[in-house]
Amino acid sequence: MYYNWKEKINTEELKNVANLIKNGEVIVFPTETVYGIGANALDSNAVKKIFLAKGRPSDNPLIVHVANKEDIGRVVYTPSAVEQKLIDTFMPGPITIILKKKPIIPNSVSAGLDTVGIRMPSNEIAHKIIAASEVPIAAPSANISGRPSGTRVQDIIGELESKVSAIIDGGECEYGLESTVVKVIDDTPVILRPRKNFTRRY
Ligand code: AMP
Ligand code: MG
Repeated sequence: MYYNWKEKINTEELKNVANLIKNGEVIVFPTETVYGIGANALDSNAVKKIFLAKGRPSDNPLIVHVANKEDIGRVVYTPSAVEQKLIDTFMPGPITIILKKKPIIPNSVSAGLDTVGIRMPSNEIAHKIIAASEVPIAAPSANISGRPSGTRVQDIIGELESKVSAIIDGGECEYGLESTVVKVIDDTPVILRPRKNFTRRY
C-alpha cells in the first residue's frame, strides 16, 4: 500500500500503518536523514523480515527508533551522565547513540552485541508512526544491501515495494545523509560513523 503524506499526515491511514507495525509487518517510512525500512523492534520475527527484504547480513545491527525520551528506558539500561548529555543535546535529531541494551531487544536486532543504537527522529511522520505503534521500531536504511540509502520514495519503490506492507511518502528527506553514530567510551563520545555526503542520489 502506498500512502502519500507529502502535504499532510492522514490520521486514519496513520492508524492502519501503526496496526501493520503492531502486527509484525514491515513498512518504509521517511525520517529526516534517509528513508527507513522498519518493523517492531521487540518482535524478532518482524525484524527477520527486514534482513530478508534488504538482503542484509545478519551480523549488521539495526538502529532502534523511539518516539520520546521516556521510551529509551524501555530498551536500554540507564545512560551514563555523558550519554544523557548527548541525548539531551542532540535528540530528537540525526544522531544514533550506542547504549547497553536490555533483554527486551532481541539479539537479531543488535546482531548479538550487548549494545544497541538508539535514534529519535525529529521528522514528524517518523515520530507519529513510532508513537502510534507504541513500540520501538528497528529500521535500517530503505535500500537493498550495498545500494545507496533512499532519500526519495521514487528511488526506493522499485527495490522494495514487493517486499513491504506499506510505503509512506513524506517527500524528500531533509538531510539526505545517514545519522551520525556515537558511542561513549571511557566517558568520551567517539564517532563510529560520521555523516557522509555521498549518499544522496538523484
Ligand atoms: P544502517 O541502519 O544501514 O544505517 O546501519 C546501521 C549502522 O549503525 C550499522 O552498520 C553500524 O555501523 C551502526 N550500529 C548499529 N548498532 C550498533 C552497535 N550496537 N554498535 C556499533 N555500531 C552499531
Ligand atoms: Mg544502510
